[in-house]
Amino acid sequence: MAQPVRVRFAPSPTGSPHVGNIRTAIFDYLMARHYGGTFVLRIEDTDLARKVDGAVEDIMDALRWVGIDWDEGPEVGGDYGPYFQSQRLPLYTEAARRLVEQGDAYCCYCSPERLEVMRKEKAALKQSTGYDRHCRELNPQERAQKEAEGITPVVRFKVPLEGHTDFIDLIYGDVSFDHATIDDFVMLKSDGYPTYHLANVVDDAAMKITHVIRAEEWISSTPRHLLIYRALGLEPPQFVHHPLIVGPDRAKLSKRHADVSLLDYRAHGYLPETMLNFLSLIGWSLDDKTEIMNRQELIDYFSLDRIGRTGAIFNRDKLDWMNGVYIRGLSVEDLTSRVLPFLEKGLPEEVKRPVDIGYVRQMMPLVQERINILENAATYADFFFVDELEYETAMLVGKKMTPETALAALKAAGERLSSLNKFDHNLLEDTLRHLAGDLEIKTGQLFSLLRVATTGRNATPPLFETMAVLGKERCMKRIKAAITRLETSKGL
Ligand code: GLU
Repeated sequence: MAQPVRVRFAPSPTGSPHVGNIRTAIFDYLMARHYGGTFVLRIEDTDLARKVDGAVEDIMDALRWVGIDWDEGPEVGGDYGPYFQSQRLPLYTEAARRLVEQGDAYCCYCSPERLEVMRKEKAALKQSTGYDRHCRELNPQERAQKEAEGITPVVRFKVPLEGHTDFIDLIYGDVSFDHATIDDFVMLKSDGYPTYHLANVVDDAAMKITHVIRAEEWISSTPRHLLIYRALGLEPPQFVHHPLIVGPDRAKLSKRHADVSLLDYRAHGYLPETMLNFLSLIGWSLDDKTEIMNRQELIDYFSLDRIGRTGAIFNRDKLDWMNGVYIRGLSVEDLTSRVLPFLEKGLPEEVKRPVDIGYVRQMMPLVQERINILENAATYADFFFVDELEYETAMLVGKKMTPETALAALKAAGERLSSLNKFDHNLLEDTLRHLAGDLEIKTGQLFSLLRVATTGRNATPPLFETMAVLGKERCMKRIKAAITRLETSKGL
């Protein structure tokens, strides 16, 4: 790279941070860190109608959650601030004024009603509904008259009527747009705020951005931007448009496919490490096989030429699998502290809060192997916590057993277990294997019976480890309750 890399993530605070936007931010971040450059966060808050309260905070929260820090921007400052466009209005008005003065832009006095009628008429004729350039050639008298009527104009760019604008996109290659397809777009609105096009160009230039990395949906804005750069005598940055994230049906990822806000993934119990890894690999890859990459590896290996033009599919199954891999890689201590809030939230109401962290730590190795999403810990492990297990008594009566043989086996197990002075899983296994022999039933029959009696389920983590974590007191109480169920139930 000839000059130090400066990239920016320029979100509009119009809602919750979409995973697609965060993925753009990740590409920016990886690019900056890979080349030892600068990552700028700039808030494009000039569309007052679409601005949502709290959105800026959510964006920063989401970035920080996946471990993306910015070198310049809100809360950290920098030499090119302010980093909120709403605080930079004089720069845009000055640029617009210059362009009008040079004859590259003009004031347009058309009312919204006139524009609406014009659009309808053009649509009826099956013509493009862009502005018809009504005010482009107003003479000084006409202009003076509009001003005298007190109409606040918008400022439109005077797009050349012929020719084309070309550029080389680092992903898509040669791109060309005929000027005939570009209308005289608005740069400055009548409320004095700039549109995206003007503010984006003025700021990318002022902030010395070297690479504009953004989703493919902006590619048609780029010729407009280049026209402005040229008219202002500014050097444009390099453009890197990457494919949009799509669902399995190849339509832009939306609520219909999956959650789209990054913060929803946090709420469900996806790990930030997973989201960074997973989102980096949507549309970018190291090779055709590497899936698990930590932050440093992503930084070390990131390169623009491995961003593809297709294949940016959001694969939910892969995400769940990857989260499981990251969960299994955590220390028990770390997993315990991450799971706790999900247990506090998801366990049945009757379970006393706060839950016992020491107990949670003990069961974590059993849960760690079997969940892919932290919130599932609450449903997967609730039997460790509840006082009364809920299950059908008939579940106690396994294959080739009768209520009577099940009852007898359970009573015998209760007696043997009550004599143990420690509930260690090896000892439990030994004791119960012997007991099955003594009772002349299959080990599987006895183990299933005890599994249901102590957990209320047919499928659980390994039985003896589970019983060891539950501890003697809980197990004995549950076995007693199961005996009572068998004794009092009829017609099984
Ligand atoms: N404010 C635009 C957005 O919301 C920025 C697009 C760009 O990066 O130029 O994504």
